[in-house]
Amino acid sequence: MSNGRNHDEDANQTPPLGGGGVVGRGDVRGVFPLSEGAFSIGHDKVFVPFDASRDVLTDRPTGSLHVEVQPFLVVIGDDVLLLDTGLGFTTPGGMQIHENIRARGFTPEQVTKVLMSHLHKDHAGGLLQTDPASGATKPAFPNASYYIYRAEADYALETGYPSYHPSELEPLFASGQVVWLDGVEGRINEHITFRHSGAHCPQHIVFLIEDGAQTLFYGGDEAPQLKQMKMKYVAKYDWDGKRAMMLRTQWAEEGQKAGWHFLFYHDIAQPVAQL
Ligand SMILES: [Zn+2]
Repeated sequence: MSNGRNHDEDANQTPPLGGGGVVGRGDVRGVFPLSEGAFSIGHDKVFVPFDASRDVLTDRPTGSLHVEVQPFLVVIGDDVLLLDTGLGFTTPGGMQIHENIRARGFTPEQVTKVLMSHLHKDHAGGLLQTDPASGATKPAFPNASYYIYRAEADYALETGYPSYHPSELEPLFASGQVVWLDGVEGRINEHITFRHSGAHCPQHIVFLIEDGAQTLFYGGDEAPQLKQMKMKYVAKYDWDGKRAMMLRTQWAEEGQKAGWHFLFYHDIAQPVAQL
């Protein structure tokens, strides 16, 4: 997957991911993790690149956590889905997420749907693209509909910094490209449903992507890493840690029975796994 093969070729081969094995049985044509790398994050919620071969976590401010960031591109039927949008970092070539999408053989213009689990800045950083000369912003995926939970948008604007960056959300909300999601659960199309989970933050949602042959589960920060699905603990960074623990246990059971492929946003080593 890390070489230059195009996605059509990938779709005819299994598996596309080391140990992931998600492709080619139904409408799901490919699942592509878009790693943005590893970071340390302190109480100031600033993400500082972290190279495990060189950097030491104890050199970072006290209480710093090690975090990996990884949106996903999912190709299913005629849709190219983007699951959360990363940190929004730029490189000399433009937006990092655009480069990562191109490296997988797609273009940002091909993205049809952006599905947002929640709007914390490490998930929502790449919603908008900024013109370096004028500073003007526009949606980073010009042809996509952005699916956002309405209550999360309200909560983000009300709560603000440092977890949310309202100034990087408002232009998107005003763009006309947002499809607002409401309710405890709902259906986006024949493949995609969402459920309100509300544990990591009060208005978080999770997505199920199904094609009849297989189910992808994207839990955002409710199910961020494989190891968290295997051990029971209450995390300090969750808004309702007990509920988050309970939900992880439920999904682990449900997913194990049904053979779900879990997509882990904060786990670069194990981006896709079955339990
Ligand atoms: Zn979060």
